Amino acid sequence: MKRKVLLLKFGELFLKGRNRHDFINLLKSNILNKLKDLSCKLQETQGRLVLTDYDQSQESVIIEKLQTVFGLIGVADAVEIDTSLEEIKSELLNIDLFGVTSFKIESKRADKTFPLTSMELDKLLGGVVLDKEPNLKVDLYNPQLKIFVEVRTNGKTYIYKNLHACAGGLPLSSGGKGLLLLSGGIDSPVAGYLMAKRGLEIEAIHFHSYPYTSLQAKEKVINLAKEISTYCGKIRLHIVSFTEIQEQIHKNCDAEYMITIMRRIMMRIAQKIAIKNNLGAIITGESLGQVASQTMQSINVTNSVVDLPVFRPVIAFDKEQIMDLARKIGTYETSILPYEDCCTVFLPKNPVIKPTIKRAELLEKNLDIESLVNEAVANEEIMEINQY
Ligand code: ATP
Ligand code: MG
Repeated sequence: MKRKVLLLKFGELFLKGRNRHDFINLLKSNILNKLKDLSCKLQETQGRLVLTDYDQSQESVIIEKLQTVFGLIGVADAVEIDTSLEEIKSELLNIDLFGVTSFKIESKRADKTFPLTSMELDKLLGGVVLDKEPNLKVDLYNPQLKIFVEVRTNGKTYIYKNLHACAGGLPLSSGGKGLLLLSGGIDSPVAGYLMAKRGLEIEAIHFHSYPYTSLQAKEKVINLAKEISTYCGKIRLHIVSFTEIQEQIHKNCDAEYMITIMRRIMMRIAQKIAIKNNLGAIITGESLGQVASQTMQSINVTNSVVDLPVFRPVIAFDKEQIMDLARKIGTYETSILPYEDCCTVFLPKNPVIKPTIKRAELLEKNLDIESLVNEAVANEEIMEINQY
C-alpha cells in the first residue's frame, strides 16, 4: 500500500539509554497535544515516528506546528510504500525532477534483512534515475536535490526530498520545572525558550511598578508569554507588584545600590514563589557584562540570597546573538516596543559595578525585607497563558 505520511526524526533521545522509552512517550504525547485540534494518527517505528491519516490540505499547518515541538529535529513529507526493490524503483520514477540538474541518493537501511547495503542501494537507485533522465548529474558533495530513501524495520520504505528542520532539544517537561524572570526586554523571553528547549517546563514571574509603569508594559509581557508559549506550552504567569518595594528602596538605600537591592529582592520573591509551586530552578536573561547589574560581582551579590539553582542560558551570548534568536522565535518585535520596565523607574545615574554582599546586607537593614517579600507574594496576580 502506498500513502503520503510525515516522517518525524528525533535527535538526542538516542543518548538516553534506558530512559529512552520514557522520552519517546513524552515526545509522542507532546506531539499529539500540539495537534489536538487536527485528526491524525502517530505510529512509532524504530528510530522514527510516522504521522498518518491527516488531512492533506492541512499538511503545511501541521509541519509548522511540529517545527515548534522540542525533541524533534526534522519532519519530512514522505511517501510510504511496502519495502521491495521493485516498489522503491518505481516510486523513485514518480519524483518530480523538473529543473533539477544534479542530485544524490541518500539511502538508509535500518532493516538489516534488506538484501542491499545503503551504499549499494545509493548506486543502484542513482542508476535508475539516470536511466530515466540521462542529462542529470550525480553530485555527491553539492547536489541540487537530495532524494532520501529509508528502509525501516516496520516493512515500510519512506521516500522523500524535503526535510524541514525542527527546533531540536529535549521533549518539554522531561527536565522538571523552572521559574523564568520575564521582563519586557529582549533577553528573558529567549532565556525561557532556551531552557524549555532543554526540557524544562516554564512558569514565569513579572514585576511591575504600576502606576510608574504603564498597563501597556504589563500587556507587553503577557504577549511575550503568549509568544514563547508556542514553544514552551502552557505558562502560568505570576504578576507581582514591585511599586511599594521600589519606593522603600528609593527612600531608604543609597542610590548606587538601588538596582542591586532591587534585584536581590526580586530573587527572594522568585524563590518563594518557585518553592510554593514546586519549581526547581530560577531562570534569568542575564548576560555577563551587559549592564552594571550583570558584572560577575553583581551576579554574585544577587545570587547570594537564593539557594535554588539559577540558570542563565544567555550568559555567554552577545546581544547580537540574542537578538537573532529573538527574531527566530518571534518575540523581537514585541520586546522592542518602547514601554518602561520597572528597572528603569528611579534609575540611578551611577549604579555600582562591583557591589559587595556586605554593603548590600548593611543597606538592607533599613528595610523590612521579610514583610515586603511576603506582602508581594501574597498579592500576586496569576494568569494562565496558553497558545500551545
Ligand atoms: P531583558 O532583556 O531580559 O529585560 P536586560 O538586558 O534588560 O534583560 P536587566 O533589566 O538587568 O537586563 O534584567 C536582567 C534579568 O532580570 C532579565 O533578563 C530578567 O530575567 C530579570 N528581570 C529584569 N526585570 C524584570 C522584571 N520587571 N520582571 C521580571 N524579571 C525581570
Ligand atoms: Mg530589562
